[in-house]
Amino acid sequence: MATSPLNILETVVDSGFCCSCGVCDAVCPTDHLKMIEDNCGQLVPEGQTYCAERCTLCLDVCPFSNEAEDDEDSLGRELFGSDPSHTHNESMGWVRDTFVGGVVNNEERMKAPSGGLTTALLCQLLKEKKIDAAIVLEPMTERPWFRFQIAETEEQIRSSRGSGYHVTALDDALDQILKGPERSYAVVTLPCAAKGIRLAQKRMPKLRRRIKYVLGLACSGYRSLQFIDLLTALMGSTSGDLNYRSKRWSRNARDYRVELKTAKTIKSVRMLGLFGFLYVNEVGGLKSCQFCDDMFAELADATFMDAWLPEYNSDRRGTNLVVSRNATLSSALTTLLASPEYEGGRIAAEKVEQSQIGELRKRRDILASYAEIASEKLGYVPGKRLAICTPLTDKSCEQARKELMFFDEARELLMRYHKRMTQKPRWLARWYAWRLCWKILKLATRHGLLSRTFEGTKFLRFMSFKRVGASNDGKGY
Ligand SMILES: Cc1cc2nc3c(=O)[nH]c(=O)nc-3n(C[C@H](O)[C@H](O)[C@H](O)COP(=O)(O)OP(=O)(O)OC[C@H]3O[C@@H](n4cnc5c(N)ncnc54)[C@H](O)[C@@H]3O)c2cc1C
Ligand code: SF4
Ligand code: SF4
Ligand code: SF4
Repeated sequence: MATSPLNILETVVDSGFCCSCGVCDAVCPTDHLKMIEDNCGQLVPEGQTYCAERCTLCLDVCPFSNEAEDDEDSLGRELFGSDPSHTHNESMGWVRDTFVGGVVNNEERMKAPSGGLTTALLCQLLKEKKIDAAIVLEPMTERPWFRFQIAETEEQIRSSRGSGYHVTALDDALDQILKGPERSYAVVTLPCAAKGIRLAQKRMPKLRRRIKYVLGLACSGYRSLQFIDLLTALMGSTSGDLNYRSKRWSRNARDYRVELKTAKTIKSVRMLGLFGFLYVNEVGGLKSCQFCDDMFAELADATFMDAWLPEYNSDRRGTNLVVSRNATLSSALTTLLASPEYEGGRIAAEKVEQSQIGELRKRRDILASYAEIASEKLGYVPGKRLAICTPLTDKSCEQARKELMFFDEARELLMRYHKRMTQKPRWLARWYAWRLCWKILKLATRHGLLSRTFEGTKFLRFMSFKRVGASNDGKGY
């Protein structure tokens, strides 16, 4: 029974850089790895059996390994670079076509996080028999709230609408693809997992053959399961239908709520209030997300996102922007958008880039400084494209130190309060949740980070004029 000299447990996981994708678990030839929840509420692989001799597969496929030979640039070039209809964009990777739009039916559109085009495209691919099934995020009524599932019908695809903003791993779904019958799949996933899948596809022909399309979601970061426990504690319930993007007719597209619907009540927290403050300050965030340089899922055949542009923000129903890197998907999207059930069309690539550029720049401006600090403190830096990031300066290093300190201390606080927040009676759990929010607010002030976000400012306004918390009348405030 030989032991491999190094696997991801001693590198990526021990240094805290796992992004919970689960790809390593799915590809491990000895089933050595199993995804578990760690003490921060993150999903990480744990060693179970033994490593195959001279095996390096987990390190080769992990998006946060520094051993992988390829990055988004080289993989993107291989996947899309030879097609002359693509152009390369430094923020978005390879781009073939760019679209804007959404479903016309208001009831359907209000259920989708953005315009509902991801679900529409999956259904269209299924209808045209371009795929046999799709891997989507199925909602659950209790913690962990979501799991990746194989959807074989349009109905199943439609019931998986929504955005899952906290960690969910793809290990079981990929396992089913690998061990199941020969079929073609589309997988919906985040940029990091898309990279893991592409790296795995390079090494496993079966995965290359069976995953026909990778659909990506633009991503500003996952949150831990402890973060969602904080939110549900604030809302005073531990079961129900969780919707991270509950839209309101009375408010613009950015002003949505996280909602928890039970048989008797609808409870919610407003995005531009407390939730937004915690979210943009990366409370419950993953360290990997801070070291992430790909926001546009550069390795996906098509990437879907919100139209965060002034001209679309006022549309309360939400709108999608899409970057397509695949001829078949471009043609399916063109057909969809020309049909009466959908509205929209083409949009300039610059507009799509502009919709996310703030978040992307924020990350790329500080990544070199984060890497410098990680190298000093941990002796491990994930293999990210530092060459496309802004070079570090004394000022950016100082800011990075502050942010990483806040991030670590906020995580400690969340861990410390977690048990108290998940206990009964619910009113006591809720009281602890509020107390934790107050402590995080004080921590952000101490590190001088409170005023750095638009949402932070809004939160303070919100605190002064309105009652913050859960409403059970279903109408919000
Ligand atoms: C963690 C996270 C961060 C995001 N950050 C941004 C951002 O900063 N800017 C931005 O513009 N957009 C962001 N998005 C994408 C946005 O929230 C929408 O998911 C996207 O615009 C698709 O909207 P839609 O109306 O087409 O969705 P739908 O038609 O409802 O389809 C969404 C599909 O994605 C699947 N899905 C949901 N969550 C996940 C997940 N975590 N992993 C894999 N599949 C999933 C669903 O099962 C469904 O099949 C983020 C999404 C996530 C999950
Ligand atoms: S993929 Fe290989 S190196 Fe990694 S855990 Fe499995 S057997 Fe060990
Ligand atoms: S990031 Fe993904 S591949 Fe890497 S260790 Fe974590 S779960 Fe495994
Ligand atoms: S920010 Fe990057 S690492 Fe974090 S979940 Fe999104 S794609 Fe993955």
